[in-house]
Amino acid sequence: MSSKRKITVAYGDGIGPEIMKATLRILEAAGAQLEYDVIEIGEQVYLKGISSGMEPKAFDSLRETKVFLKSPITTPQGGGFKSLNVTTRKSFGLFANVRPCKAYSPFVKTHFPKTDMVIIRENEEDLYAGIEHRQTEEVYQTLKLISQPGSEKIIRYAFEYAKKYNRKKVTCMTKDNIMKLSDGLFHKIFDQIAKEYPEIETDHKIIDIGSALIAERPEIFDVIVTLNLYGDIISDIAAQVTGSVGLGGSANVGAEVAMFEAIHGSAPDIAGMDMANPSGLLNGAISMLVHIGQPEVAEKVANAWMKTLEDGIHTGDIYQEGISKEKAGTQSFADAVIARL
Ligand code: NAD
Repeated sequence: MSSKRKITVAYGDGIGPEIMKATLRILEAAGAQLEYDVIEIGEQVYLKGISSGMEPKAFDSLRETKVFLKSPITTPQGGGFKSLNVTTRKSFGLFANVRPCKAYSPFVKTHFPKTDMVIIRENEEDLYAGIEHRQTEEVYQTLKLISQPGSEKIIRYAFEYAKKYNRKKVTCMTKDNIMKLSDGLFHKIFDQIAKEYPEIETDHKIIDIGSALIAERPEIFDVIVTLNLYGDIISDIAAQVTGSVGLGGSANVGAEVAMFEAIHGSAPDIAGMDMANPSGLLNGAISMLVHIGQPEVAEKVANAWMKTLEDGIHTGDIYQEGISKEKAGTQSFADAVIARL
């Protein structure tokens, strides 16, 4: 029997195929024990009339492998297309969105070089549960749904994550001064679960001042756990303040299945030009390697990638006169990482 771990891979649209090729070349060179079940997702599938953007056999593949490494896709213009990410999250119960936001100063410009935080966002409930209706001619209603089991699951996940990755503090963000029952429940469960992890420092911030602090003093945060909508917003603020929107990876994790990707989109403006930075997908893949029990390979890849940035080998999106030494294309950047493994 093969000792290789089978994963589902989707090359996606736009720059997707180029960055996936570069990422898989690096993983293979680092000795990752992987085999791939390649599925088609995205624009071509939508245009065949499949509104989820994923063929039924893609769902079968995910049910079998339980791990999905996904390139970005292009969502066709016009109505009638469902978000592939939302479909995957809902179909496989991917309740946690995990987005590390780290500054890579001076290689990537940021005002906050010490930033190193992880946003853990609840992914299934809140205003995103999809319960929306029209009440009258003039009034529409969206229901916010917060459950005890859902809150327990994500908060416990955040503490376990902090423990596993040796993080020191978990901050909960809610608006429980106004939404005393729904956000209040989340905060209350946070305080209860925190007692089970006495070694981890805890903190609560009202989401508005919390967001302001992420924008002004991001280095004070370590792990942040929050509700779906707040998490959606603050994870973009956090990625932006670190300057790492083009470098960030993210994970959507459920009890059985997990999906790993870059946080950026399919960048159709530079598709096929060997200009895209593969770092976002590579960082998603590094989290995937830890998830599937290949942490040594993950560390090897992370170190080689960091060394490549330190050596000034940069793709065009992060190239800076005076700091960068060599402008690399997608594949030559991958070659430079491989040379440093
Ligand atoms: P985008 O992230 O694709 O691009 C924004 C800008 O950043 C562009 O100028 C692009 O060239 C640049 N950029 C993005 N990734 C880069 C990389 N790796 N290297 C260098 N430069 C990079 O956002 P957009 O233009 O708003 O969206 C394009 C398409 O992507 C849309 O169809 C959108 O729906 C889709 N999208 C998909 C996902 C996903 O699959 N997870 C996420 C976001 C957007």
